[in-house]
Amino acid sequence: MRILLFVLLLPLSLQAQQNFDTVKIRPFPLTDNVYMLTGSGGNIGLLVGPEGNLIVDDQYAPLSVKIRQAVYAINPGEVRYVINTHLHGDHTGGNENFRKLGATLVAHDNVRARMMKETVNREGKTVPPRNPESWPVVTFERRLNVHLNGEDLELHYLDRGHTDGDVIVKFKKANVIHTGDAFVRERYPFIDLTSGGSFLGYIHTLQQIYDLADDQTKIIPGHGALATRSDVKALHDKLADIRDQVIAALSKGTKPEELASLPIATKYDPEFGKGFVKGKDFVLLVADEVKVMAPVRKKK
Ligand SMILES: [Zn+2]
Repeated sequence: MRILLFVLLLPLSLQAQQNFDTVKIRPFPLTDNVYMLTGSGGNIGLLVGPEGNLIVDDQYAPLSVKIRQAVYAINPGEVRYVINTHLHGDHTGGNENFRKLGATLVAHDNVRARMMKETVNREGKTVPPRNPESWPVVTFERRLNVHLNGEDLELHYLDRGHTDGDVIVKFKKANVIHTGDAFVRERYPFIDLTSGGSFLGYIHTLQQIYDLADDQTKIIPGHGALATRSDVKALHDKLADIRDQVIAALSKGTKPEELASLPIATKYDPEFGKGFVKGKDFVLLVADEVKVMAPVRKKK
C-alpha cells in the first residue's frame, strides 16, 4: 500500500519504469464528433470539428505523439485546447508537449496553484514544482463555458473530492460527461488528502454528477469503461453505505484501529479491491473524516 501510494503520488517518476512503447491509443466514438480515447493513464475525451480539436486530459508525456496521431487520424489538425480534470500526472503528463504544439491549457485555479509550488506528499517526500510549460494558462473557480465546433462545453467545479481541483466537463449537445477521477470504476476511489481531497466531498460530487446527467448521458470515468448515471448512483450508494456503517461503528465505541476487522472493511473488496486502495485502508480514511459525525458515547 505504502509503496503503491508513493508511485501514484509521483506519476511522472513512473514513466521511467513503465514501457509506453506497447501502449495503443484506442478511439471509441460516442457521437459523430465526440470520442473517448484510452491508452495508459486517465481516459481522454475528444471533441473534433472544423474549428479544431479539444481534449480532456492528456495521460503521460511519452504518449503525446501517439495521442496526437490518434487525434489526427480522426480529424487532421493540432489539439487547440487541453482541459485538465485535475493535477495528477496520469491526466496532465502531456501538458507541456501539447502546449508546445500550440494548445491552450485549461484547469481549475487550484490545479495551477499546486503545480506551481513544491509540495510534500504523504510519504513526507518533497515533490518539486511542475515545469512552467505544463501550468494551465486559463483557470477558473466555479464555472467556465467553452464554445467550439457547435458544441457547448460546461466546466463545473464541484468542491473537494478526489482533490481540491476536480473539474467535470459536460458536452451539452453530445450529452457526454467526462468526470476525471471524481468518478472511477472497479476500484475504491483514491481520496488524495495531500492535494485537498475529501471522502465526504467525493460522495457529494457523485450526487452532483448524477444530477447533471440523464438516463441517456454517456459518462467517461477517470479510469475504466464508459458508464451511465446508474453506475454513478451505484458507486454513490456504496460509498454512502461505507460512511454510514463506519459512523455507526464509531458511535458504538469501536476504535478506528478495530474497523479493519469489521465486515464493512472487506464487503466491497471483490468489486473494488483490485486497485491499489484496499477496503481495510479505505475505512480508516473514512473514519478519520467522519469521526466528528459520530455521537460521543458517554461513559456511565
Ligand atoms: Zn487522479
